[in-house]
Amino acid sequence: MSKRTIKTYPNEILGKKAEKVKSAEEVKDLISEMKEILEEADGVGLAAPQIGVSKQVFVVKDGHHYYGFMNPEIVERSDETITTKEGCLSFPGLWIDIERPKLVKIEALTEDDERMLLEAEGIGAVVFQHEIDHLFGKVFIDYLSGFDKMKARLKYGLK
Ligand SMILES: [Zn+2]
Repeated sequence: MSKRTIKTYPNEILGKKAEKVKSAEEVKDLISEMKEILEEADGVGLAAPQIGVSKQVFVVKDGHHYYGFMNPEIVERSDETITTKEGCLSFPGLWIDIERPKLVKIEALTEDDERMLLEAEGIGAVVFQHEIDHLFGKVFIDYLSGFDKMKARLKYGLK
């Protein structure tokens, strides 16, 4: 099996909405592969579209553990926000300040095939929101406006 690699911006899959999965079983191998790729890349989160698979699957790192989630839905967002410097494996070398809700509640399918309600706060909430955005074709530079977005795009040879 040929190994999948990380797709970088402006690969068109990064702008596409991903398909829901039927069960955790269906994407078991994909999740294992994503965990390996994330570990090798030394990142904190990875979404399936980033490796060329248009499915609603993402993995996040928490401490030394990696967890896979599918078909996520953000059901609650706090008014209070947090601004952090975000990076993205699909945008090598780019770090930008993004403001997001500080606390989110997320419903998602776990690797045990259970629909769970998760609560994430601070950096955890940022990582979840960043990865979930990828499943809906949104990338972090979409939060920038005008000149800042142009500068970010120029970095990747785009106008
Ligand atoms: Zn990303």
